[in-house]
Order: sequence, then C-alpha cells, then structure tokens
Amino acid sequence: MAVCGSRISQMAFHATPGPHERSILSAAQPFYHSSSTAAVRRDFEPDRPIGYGAFGVVWSVTDPRDGKRVALKKMPNVFQNLISCKRVYRELKMLFYFNHDNVLKALDILQPPHIDFFEEIYVVTQLMQSDLHKIIVSPQPLSSDHVKVFLYQILRGLKYLHMAGILHRDIKPGNLLVNSNCILKICDFGLARVEEPDTTKDMTQEVITQYYRAPEILVGSKHYTSAVDMWSVGCIFAELLGRRILFQAQSPVSQLNLITDLLGTPSSEDLKYACNGAKSHILRMPHKPPCLSALYNLSSHATHEAVHLLSRMLVFNPDKRMSCTDALAHPYLDEGRLRYHTCMCSCCVNTPSGRQYTSNFEPSVEERFDDGYEDGINTVYQCKEALHKFITERHQGSSVPLCINPQSAAFKSFASSSVASTSELPPSPQPWD
Ligand SMILES: [Zn+2]
Repeated sequence: MAVCGSRISQMAFHATPGPHERSILSAAQPFYHSSSTAAVRRDFEPDRPIGYGAFGVVWSVTDPRDGKRVALKKMPNVFQNLISCKRVYRELKMLFYFNHDNVLKALDILQPPHIDFFEEIYVVTQLMQSDLHKIIVSPQPLSSDHVKVFLYQILRGLKYLHMAGILHRDIKPGNLLVNSNCILKICDFGLARVEEPDTTKDMTQEVITQYYRAPEILVGSKHYTSAVDMWSVGCIFAELLGRRILFQAQSPVSQLNLITDLLGTPSSEDLKYACNGAKSHILRMPHKPPCLSALYNLSSHATHEAVHLLSRMLVFNPDKRMSCTDALAHPYLDEGRLRYHTCMCSCCVNTPSGRQYTSNFEPSVEERFDDGYEDGINTVYQCKEALHKFITERHQGSSVPLCINPQSAAFKSFASSSVASTSELPPSPQPWD
C-alpha cells in the first residue's frame, strides 16, 4: 500500500472544501495535493478509532496524498521514563526494519515538532480490517482451509521475526491482524526484544498475556528463548480449531495447573528451568498422566495431522518444543502454503504460461535486527534526542511529509485519547516468591 506514489498536482490544499476539515492527517506542504484524491473522496470515510493497545491508540484515517486508508497510531506518554522511551524507540526501529507480508510495518511517521515540544509520536501503518480474536469470537464459520492458511501465515511471519533475532513476547489472537482477503500480519511490538544469547542474564517475566504464556515463564525461568512465541502459537492453533481459549485460568498458578492437566506432570528434566517454589508446587500435587488425546475433541477439524503438529508445539520443555522452521515443514501446512501462494501472496506471479512460484516460500531476513543503537542511551533526554533525530531523518527523502490537521474535529478526540503507560500497568508478581 503505497502512501506517496501518486502524481501530485499543484492544487491549493485549502481551496478544496469538504472532508479535509474533518481529516486528521494533512500534507505538510499546503500546495501539494494529489489529483486523484478528489475522485476517491466521493465515498469519503470519516476518521475513526479502531483499537486500543497497551501502548497506543490506533485510528483508521485517510492519507491526504493519495486518498488511501491507513492506520495512525498515537504513542502517548513516550518520555515519562527511560523504560517507556526506549521501548517506543525499539518498536519504531523494528516497524521501519520489517519487510515481510505477514508482519506489520511502518509506512510513514509524522514530522515531530521542535524537540522542546516533542511529547507524542504518530506512526502510519498498513490498515487491516480485523484481527484473529474478533474472527474467533464471531459467528462466522471457520473452515479447515481457514485454519490452515491462518496458521501458515502466523508461522511464516514468526519465522521471519525469529530469524531476525526478535522475540515478539505477546503473540495472541488480538495481535494478529487480518484483512478481508484473509491476509494475516503480526503486529504490536511493544514487548518485543532481541534474543538474549547469554543464558545467565535475567529477562523480564512480565510478558505475554497469561492465557498464551509459556510454561517456562509460568514456572519462573529467568531466561527464555523464541520457544515462548511457539507456545503461544500452539495455544492459538488450538483456539482456531476449538473456537475457545485453550488454557483460560484466573491466575498464573491455575494457568500452570491447566497446562499440566493436559500435558501431565513434567519430568524433573523438563523442570530444569523452574524456580524452587514452582518445582515444589508441581511435585506436591498428585501425579497427572498426559491426556493429549483430548485435543481430538477440539473440533471435527482436529485430524491426526492437526493434532500431531499441535502436540509438537504444546511441549512443556522449551528445548523439546518445535521451532517455527520445523513447524513449517509439517505436512499439515502443505495445503495452507499452496493456497497462500496460489492467490494471496505478493511473491509469486501469474504469467501467460501459469503461476510462477517463488523459489523461497518462507523467506528469512538479509540482516538480523541490531539493537546496538541502544548503547549509550542512559537518560530520557538522550533517548528523546535519538528518537527526534531518527524521525527527522526519515523525512529527508522526496515524499511530501504528513502532519496533523489541527482543524479536524476528529483530531480533538484522538489527541485526548490516551492509554495506560507501562508504569501504570498492574505489576505481575511472581507467584513463587
Ligand atoms: Zn508466493
């Protein structure tokens, strides 16, 4: 979805009446206005909110340069503390680094004001109509083909992230955006980080929505890997099949109990990453046998192949859990791959002699994501300066920069919308302490 590719005419921006006064976005150079926009604007859609994540508010808006609908995300309270500031900088760096059809990427970012007035950041991304959570809870029927093509795209996007060295750490249905053509994109990188190769370094356990949280995090492991995302994918695969959350518990301890009800009591080897409190909790309970055959009861789509793949993802020990690349090699995904590359992808093309398939169905990255830019950022002001420079430099290209239209009525409610910053999020104490 190009935001700046259309021909630009010299029509005075302010001379065009109508929707412009209502649009949140405007072009920063008033004499530039796309000639094609007037026609597109006949079926003008008002700007409206579409989602509220933990770290931002998202609106569906029109790009004034080409009349296309895009998503505008406001990142508020960026400079409250060093943690939130660095997290936003990391998310933006990632959004501009991504280049994959199953991962949401940034299309543009609004010009920042002078650094003394720099408080909020507005980023433009592709607009998607729905997400997997809304689809799962809707009455819309989900065929076996739907499940396969969704799961294929989740794994295809996640393989790209893991090859880039990025752990998403909040894979859940609400963070998997879907458009009307069933194209799926992984979004929300507010909790993402690069892998930690040093296993002696502690990583935060305040990650991943509880229902999708891997057992190693529930048992208090101080270090974890990309396998945490694969656990979440297993939970989502089961949810797509059964149309209900697989492990839906009230607390982290009962979450762990539900998992061991299905997988059985883990062996001592499988508990090697657990803290002592979690180990004694598990060993105090009566021994549970595994009952993976219950997965056949999820739905009529739970075939042998589906249950085989699912049971390789839902493995207690992260070292024995299937990786993304291995999952993509499973025969269950062959049909999803074929469907995706026959009529949904952008990597294969139709030619007079038939469909020309790509040589690499699940591409990796050319270069891993490098978080070395964070070195030397030790204060909020240093982070603010670095962010300001990063955004300003993105505007040194040839496209017409975007800015907020302060005349827009919708902007007033957008500007006043805000969400809890991290410092206000409820703490998630370790139950084993
Ligand atoms: Zn393709």
